[in-house]
Amino acid sequence: MNSQRLWWQMPLRIIQFNLQSKDAPLMDAEKIARESEEMGANVITINAGGIVAWYPSKVRFHYVNEYMEDGRDILREILNACHARNIKVIARFDFAMAEDYIYHQNPQWFARKPDGSLIPRGNDRPGLWRRLYTTCINNGYQNEEVGLAVINEILDNYGDVDGIFWNGGYSSSCWCGVCQEKYLKKYGKPIPEKASEFETDWLASCNTESTQKYWDLMRTKAPDKLFTRYYFPFKLDLGANMTLPADNINERSKTGNMLCTEAQDVLSHGQKNLPEWSEPAIRMKMGRTVEGLPSPIGIIHAQPGMDWRHVGLPVPEFLYWSAQIKANGGAHWSTLTGFCDTIEDKRILDGVTRLNQMIKKVEDDMDEANCASQVQLLSDDGTYVQGWADGLISNHIEFDMMTHYQLELEKMKRYPVVVVPKGFVFPEDAGRLFEEYVAGGGHLIVEGTSGIELSPILHLLGTEGQIVCSEQMVATYQRIEPAGNVLRTKLGETNLVPLRGRVGFCVPKSDTEVYATWVPPFAPADSVGAPPERASLPAAQTQVPLCMVSTFKKGKVMFLPYEPSRLFREYGLDDFCILIGAYIDIMLGEKKHLEVDAPRGVQTSVFKKDNLLLLHFVNGVGQRPLKENIPCHNIKFSLKLELGQQVKDVAARISGQPVYYEVNNGVLTAELAELGVWDMVRVEF
Ligand SMILES: [Zn+2]
Repeated sequence: MNSQRLWWQMPLRIIQFNLQSKDAPLMDAEKIARESEEMGANVITINAGGIVAWYPSKVRFHYVNEYMEDGRDILREILNACHARNIKVIARFDFAMAEDYIYHQNPQWFARKPDGSLIPRGNDRPGLWRRLYTTCINNGYQNEEVGLAVINEILDNYGDVDGIFWNGGYSSSCWCGVCQEKYLKKYGKPIPEKASEFETDWLASCNTESTQKYWDLMRTKAPDKLFTRYYFPFKLDLGANMTLPADNINERSKTGNMLCTEAQDVLSHGQKNLPEWSEPAIRMKMGRTVEGLPSPIGIIHAQPGMDWRHVGLPVPEFLYWSAQIKANGGAHWSTLTGFCDTIEDKRILDGVTRLNQMIKKVEDDMDEANCASQVQLLSDDGTYVQGWADGLISNHIEFDMMTHYQLELEKMKRYPVVVVPKGFVFPEDAGRLFEEYVAGGGHLIVEGTSGIELSPILHLLGTEGQIVCSEQMVATYQRIEPAGNVLRTKLGETNLVPLRGRVGFCVPKSDTEVYATWVPPFAPADSVGAPPERASLPAAQTQVPLCMVSTFKKGKVMFLPYEPSRLFREYGLDDFCILIGAYIDIMLGEKKHLEVDAPRGVQTSVFKKDNLLLLHFVNGVGQRPLKENIPCHNIKFSLKLELGQQVKDVAARISGQPVYYEVNNGVLTAELAELGVWDMVRVEF
């Protein structure tokens, strides 16, 4: 089996050296290859061409690095040195910018503002650099005249390059004549002056059209080489009222043979703007929704933001952040600026080495393993799905994802519980699919506050009549009802839980069980604090449901006409987290096969392969950015065994410590005495 797989379908440990032009005279390919091997890489990614060529290119207007001595060919040196050590080489190209001498000869290749002027990049950069201008995605430089000619040249003269990393996931806005004409032809109207008013698929479609040409070249001329394709799984807020829609991952996967994504841990935006703690995990889960491709690549810049690219991320933060990639089935790619000799912060080189040593200990077991989850989270491209994902991770509940354009009944049927977040875009025919899923015994959790949004599945929700969306509310609560005692057992002794935002007012059917109800605001926002004499709840008890469960044929539906996912994402209160976990527990019921007892800050993911079950624990405990990896102790889990299943061994593959376990009445219970930053417990049957 293994012999039929191409190299990039095997376990990868990738290190990227983002070279600076002035690194060239300092580079010793043999030393770079040796150090890459010592750092645990089996693949390196290195600059080859585009803005700067690192080999003596013959393609006209392909600018060759002036700091590379005449007669030198750094790409060739790297290929020879790495291949001698069995390290694969991915060549990096970026055609998004070009030098001004190229502009003077080919002004038509460059991107324009609405007023026709050029789009310079880094004009104020100190150091006497020549000017760079943004090139147009729809014009010659990024396509036949230079970009494709360069890739052709590489495939002809460097047939041993193992893969191409085309750093072209996104396209800049351009108002040049070609773009104007193309826009008019595509949409029947002139291109708007503001990028925020572009048709939502404009930039992505231009990007795909250009990439298609590269992919056509690769798959016909070099089908066994890696050609990576970027994806961004959620809406991207670019500021200035401009939001890029999430990439259609299915579409992206058609113009490459492996997906990659960047989960950047940017700390230089300040502590108040830290990226979500589970972002690498969620990105890997989204990338894995495409069947037929290897697991996605998670590109982690090992620095605390591009402005601080000359130093490394704090190592404890880097390790916990990066461990999520492999722990969620992805291939890890560490990105550094320069190479070992020009990287001044040697601490991060040690961090990358430590990470790769851990990856080595789990990669054979993880090779071609499948996620073992019982919950499927449907995905749109926004806040609510991210809130659910975070809530599930914080409750140690493993889940798979599926986007609205991937919706299939057969895939849903693999999971006893399917979660529909608020704002999910129901595709055509969704009503029938969900009805069949529930009728056949599936359990559905639906979050939503508007009858219009929920109209395809309104008949499954256990309500009567309309759902009326409320205004944005503050100072409001939910009351746990006697039927919802199971919620109280998780929450502890409280009748009320905080609530904010919108509620979908509705009436439950007579046989619908109501677990929680709405408590109206006691004050407007400007007077919640004073006076306390008037803080009484005006209506302490209502019949308006916030959590209800009804049956439909063989299945069950839990309807949550409020926004638990957004509340958890925005406010992070543990009550919101507990409720999300409780909803899943209620709907999984007896079927729940895995219970994990660990702090919230420990992420769990679960895979299975043949006779193995692989449980990852990634320790994110502590205030971020993590200053230390605080060990956690006595992490317990219990697993319901299948009929006749015998446990042969339970081992902690990264730490190597013994794992104490026992089997009673068909349930395996085990305990990991100490968790450092990451471990994988392997249960062998
Ligand atoms: Zn253009």
